[in-house]
Amino acid sequence: MATQTYTFQAEIQQLLNILVHSLYTDQEIFLRELISNASDALNRLQFEMLTNPDVLDPDAELAIHIAADKDAGTLTISDTGVGMSRDEMIENLGTIAQSGAARFLQQMQEQNGSIVSPTDLIGQFGVGFYSVFMIADRVTVTSRSFRPDDEAWAWTSDGSTTFEIEPADQATRGTTITIQVKEDLTEFLETFRLRNIVKKHSDFIAFPIYIEDEVANQQTAIWRKPARDVADEDYTAFYKQLTFDFHHPLLHLHIAADAPVQFYSLLYVPAQADRGLLNPRTDHGLKLYARKVMIQEYNKDFLPNYLRFVDGVVDSEDLPLNVARESIQTTQMIRRIGTSLKGKLLGELERLAAEEPERYQDFWQAFGSFIKEGIATESGDAGRLATLLRFHSSVSNGETPTVTLDDYVARMKDDQEHIYYILAEDLLSVQHSPHLDRFTTLDYEVLYLTDTVDSFMLMNLPEYESRSLKNVDDAELELPDIETEHETDPLEADDFEVVRGRFADVLGERVIDVRESHMLTGSPIRLATPEGQPDRNVQRVYRMLEQNFEVPRRILELNRRHPLIHNLAGWLVADPAAGVIDEVIEQLYDSALLVDGIHPNPAAIVARMQRLMELATRRDD
Ligand code: ADP
Ligand code: MG
Repeated sequence: MATQTYTFQAEIQQLLNILVHSLYTDQEIFLRELISNASDALNRLQFEMLTNPDVLDPDAELAIHIAADKDAGTLTISDTGVGMSRDEMIENLGTIAQSGAARFLQQMQEQNGSIVSPTDLIGQFGVGFYSVFMIADRVTVTSRSFRPDDEAWAWTSDGSTTFEIEPADQATRGTTITIQVKEDLTEFLETFRLRNIVKKHSDFIAFPIYIEDEVANQQTAIWRKPARDVADEDYTAFYKQLTFDFHHPLLHLHIAADAPVQFYSLLYVPAQADRGLLNPRTDHGLKLYARKVMIQEYNKDFLPNYLRFVDGVVDSEDLPLNVARESIQTTQMIRRIGTSLKGKLLGELERLAAEEPERYQDFWQAFGSFIKEGIATESGDAGRLATLLRFHSSVSNGETPTVTLDDYVARMKDDQEHIYYILAEDLLSVQHSPHLDRFTTLDYEVLYLTDTVDSFMLMNLPEYESRSLKNVDDAELELPDIETEHETDPLEADDFEVVRGRFADVLGERVIDVRESHMLTGSPIRLATPEGQPDRNVQRVYRMLEQNFEVPRRILELNRRHPLIHNLAGWLVADPAAGVIDEVIEQLYDSALLVDGIHPNPAAIVARMQRLMELATRRDD
């Protein structure tokens, strides 16, 4: 087959046009991208060789070679990885399956005209290869696949609109990229400069990178080194290479274990939960190596799902190379390693909480909801995770939740039996909750739970330090009586019964009962929840999701001393047929549903409210 010419996909043409014609500050990153591709190709070969004895050059060293020829003005980067067949070249170096190029272009164009740094962008879009055209007049990729029957092919392009494919002469497996370096960029032919670039961007690549026959990278996997030999900067640099996150990680944890299973691990907690829309990591999980071979990019078997924000590497000599094929032994080994990792990680979080409370606050802001999810989903971990919780409460103030359950227990009043909490939409609505009346009077602390996940967390957190956690809306709560001064007297029993009866008539089946409250001081009514409703704490969530939501039936409690209840009694005696009475009752019931976050249609309240205001503002003159 002779030379054939192909046209690049439209997005790639645009991308090349920008790369070739603009001025960039970080041209050196082309080398990082080519090395990363070579390393991927070597990884894939290593993996292939686990199951396939029939590869070309089985004994070739797995390595990357970089050589510069100053006279010819060329730079070559070669590897002994999987290589590419003719079709694979056309597919991989001419089209882009995902929308990577289009998204990259959009980003570049938004930075329109200015000298931009593609450093953080290009590798993230699966278009890293094309960065070579920042420094090249012409690029030739010669490659021979590991499949013994395939032939060698050469791909050539000047980065304009087309590329050519022709048969090539290459007896060995792998890929060689020959770059005709632009005339004014001969710095990239200097060995010294190349060495620096490799040190800076590719030091932790697991295969040797030879520059003119001398190894330029550390190569020893950082996680296999003793922790005392690894500097903080190295941990950070490795994290950035691993995750494409350009922020510093919040913390790292380096573990080497010998028994019962031998393994190395390096775990990171990122600074933020959100990896960003552009991050190329498509999944979560730990990178798994078995006997130095990368087996899996995203392994989810080591850590429970709620710890999915943790990034890192696990490497074990004891694991069989075919981890994917499940055997009882492998499963057991993974479970052992996982248990150890989880224990160390939680221990590190506990240490952070105790010794570095401010950094722990950062952790909590970013990942607190994951810890709560852990309590909800892993009963076995719930007790330990409970100590990591942080809350807002009626005692704390400030932006960040800082109250621990231990703080709470330490502050409990002598006569206080339980730990009390209120579930609410947000901190502002807590202030309007009638359920807090008595707790304020008694000066009992109440935890404010405002996360959606809190409702689920509570299912697995019935008690702490043998004290029950109780919702303040609990209909069965018994609180000590205290002498307080009241501005109004309680309504006479007969009058109260008339009011109570009218509420019961108007609300009918919508409530379980209407009764006098022992909990209210400043508010006229509240809706108390009987313990018989097992999903009581989740009803707010149903309401938010608008799924199967039926307004739950609760016990309506009336405050016998409240002026509004007094006034209603007055109306009922003077003019029981007055329409306004029933409207007020409906409105009170609606507003109680509203403060509890379970009103099915809050906007519907408005019309009645306006009718009531109309009545209130009417002047009889
Ligand atoms: P990405 O690496 O994110 O897939 P690139 O633009 O860097 O995107 O590379 C495109 C594709 O070209 C790679 O996915 C790979 O299939 C192929 N490729 C690039 N370099 C090599 C190489 N040295 N050996 C084998 N395949 C390669
Ligand atoms: Mg790449």
